Amino acid sequence: MTKKYADVIIDISHEALDKVFQYRVPFSLREEIRPGVRVQIPFGKGNQVREGYVISLSETADYPEELIKEILALSPKSVAMESQMIRLAAFLKDRYGSSMYQALKTVMPVKKTVAKKKKTDVILRLSVPEAEELLKLWEKRNYRVRSRFLAALLQNPEHTLSGDELKKIGSISQKDLKKMEEKGIITLQSRIQYRNPFSALQKKEERVPLNRDQSAILEEFTRDYEAGERKTYLLHGVTGSGKTEVYMALIEVVLGLGKQAIVLIPEISLTFQTVRRFYERFGEQVAVIHSRMSQGEKSDSYMRIEQGEANIVIGPRSALFAPTRNLGLIVIDEEHDGAYKSDSAPKYHARETAIFRAGMAGASVVLGSATPSMESYTRAQQGEYTLWTLKKRGGDAVLPKVSIVDLKEEFHQGNRSMFSAGLRTKIQERLERKEQIMLFLNRRGFAGFVSCRACGTVIKCPHCDISLTYHRDGTLRCHYCGFSRPYSRECPVCRQPHVAAFGLGTEKVEAALEEEFPGVRVLRMDMDTTRRKHSHQKMLEAFGGGQADILLGTQMIVKGHDYENVTLVGILAADLSLHSHDFRSGERTFQLLCQAAGRAGRGRKQGEVVIQTYSPDHYAIQAAADQDYNRFYEEEAAYRKMLRYPPWSHMLVILVQSGEESQSALAVQRIQKMIMQSQSGSQNPVSVLNPGQASLAKLKDTYRQVIYLKHVEAERLLDLKDRLQAVIDTHPLFAGVSVQYDFDPMNSY
Ligand code: ADP
Ligand code: ZN
Repeated sequence: MTKKYADVIIDISHEALDKVFQYRVPFSLREEIRPGVRVQIPFGKGNQVREGYVISLSETADYPEELIKEILALSPKSVAMESQMIRLAAFLKDRYGSSMYQALKTVMPVKKTVAKKKKTDVILRLSVPEAEELLKLWEKRNYRVRSRFLAALLQNPEHTLSGDELKKIGSISQKDLKKMEEKGIITLQSRIQYRNPFSALQKKEERVPLNRDQSAILEEFTRDYEAGERKTYLLHGVTGSGKTEVYMALIEVVLGLGKQAIVLIPEISLTFQTVRRFYERFGEQVAVIHSRMSQGEKSDSYMRIEQGEANIVIGPRSALFAPTRNLGLIVIDEEHDGAYKSDSAPKYHARETAIFRAGMAGASVVLGSATPSMESYTRAQQGEYTLWTLKKRGGDAVLPKVSIVDLKEEFHQGNRSMFSAGLRTKIQERLERKEQIMLFLNRRGFAGFVSCRACGTVIKCPHCDISLTYHRDGTLRCHYCGFSRPYSRECPVCRQPHVAAFGLGTEKVEAALEEEFPGVRVLRMDMDTTRRKHSHQKMLEAFGGGQADILLGTQMIVKGHDYENVTLVGILAADLSLHSHDFRSGERTFQLLCQAAGRAGRGRKQGEVVIQTYSPDHYAIQAAADQDYNRFYEEEAAYRKMLRYPPWSHMLVILVQSGEESQSALAVQRIQKMIMQSQSGSQNPVSVLNPGQASLAKLKDTYRQVIYLKHVEAERLLDLKDRLQAVIDTHPLFAGVSVQYDFDPMNSY
């Protein structure tokens, strides 16, 4: 890297990240200067020497040459963590496409100084005889308040009063305390009270001994780690196989070597039980980052992490950027989860970003899942990650019995209810036996995949093997290639007038349950009922405490909750995710079904799972019913390879938005032309799926168009992205147009 100019920031606090200054790189330093290095620079009128971080480099100057000063030297006191975070930002910017400012804002912790809850301790400074003498004097002079205060101080162990105790004595003023301190009678010592939302939890000493398979993993990890080998491991273990126990054991190894660990979980409010277990095991060493935390709570956690008081960080995707100075391990639980992909620029994936950060910090990475992503499992197959497998459930619990119900059959037998005859009977049985039930309704696909109720045919795009989506203007559209056709009720296969867009809400299901099972106690958990802080947790606890017979919900009920008394899990319409309009829908369906099924029979009683579906023969559904990951993987891999979908290629989505419909269309055409020109003559060109309207074609009065690009080599797409961006930055056609990138998208547009 030998660029001539460097952008430097002086202050890495969140509020100042946009204050960027350009400097010339002296010839002698061209080899060494790269994003993240700390440099000495002349600053301001007097050219005083300041320190700053290089965030990016360029070939051309943004200002007249004579106004640009030169970097003086590399700074001797380079701070590893800050440098690494800036390099991480540069990685996010290059790979996922964003401005450097957006990337820096993503990785740099908010250091808002929020007023801390301070508590003051009062400590006696006089000797006991001196204090007793003073007390006598004060009593004689009738200083009642002060006497009471001093007497309390003398009586207390260690002659100390905490803030709370002080309050109980009452009426002694801060001014009096200050005066006493000045006279040398007492010392006031303020102590920062860290806010910790989990502080009520008690640390527990007992722990389960690891089984043979778990121990083998621990041994391998320890051996690698002590030999200085830092790897990425993929822990594939069925639900309940004891992955969390393994994570905790591995963390103990790393902590024992004086290092810190970051544990990512998809969403804290949904995985409260996991957080609780970490807390019970590691106590105050745990710092929790939470999306619904207050600023104060967050900055406290960051402070404890940075100062090394907390050595384990648990949180959602953004916890990856916790300011650990001594990172030794990153664990990503449920690594397949879509929540690990950011949905605003830079649209980074936590898995790849974690591996990059771990690489810089010299840390290992452990990815865990019952249903690993196609990406990770493929990399493990190719030897890039080390694969660990846990096949059995940890304790005594056995895997549940799963049955598939064909909803087309039910339809033909005249059953128009949401519950198949089989599911209804099983619900009835559980209600009689006072056992509990979880009913799961997939929320995805609400945009409306379209299918025939009579024969189950899904109306697909003739070019993409992707289901069409119903649009309110009466058309069916493909969101990959832009194909569209008018909507008709007539099924192209069975010719019956039963084609309809699928839509089923939790409220409707709740009403149906109350009608079909009079007196049933239903707890409905969805976006509407869980909006408030802690409401998830409260509802789950209520269900765990037996306050409802049925827990009905969306995605959010399938994650990591153990209920002894749940013996039936019903999935009302497995297809809702199967035919959503993107290539990951089979994978997503398989993952959701496995997770949902994993909720049944977590205790001693045998669990049962009923999967209702219009596609009983689909491999994702059958493999989920058998809890057969390998079968799913093989089928899905064949499909992805054939159509060259990730991980057998990389994808780049270019999202073009403008308030003017014509402008966004023109911009897209221009981009497409540039792509075509850049690829002409190439042996192995980037494939461009025709541009079209996004499925959300208009959002908040902006018009959205998308282009999908595919290529086997990531570099080719990233290079193309950079070249496009260079034009977009300068060409007048793109004024007022926003262009965003999504590299290896998890969702369709
Ligand atoms: P996962 O994270 O794979 O879902 P967990 O670590 O939550 O699995 O374990 C599931 C249950 O099995 C927990 O209640 C856990 O305490 C128990 N468990 C895990 N490992 C063992 C073991 N070696 N012996 C006994 N019980 C275990
Ligand atoms: Zn298509």
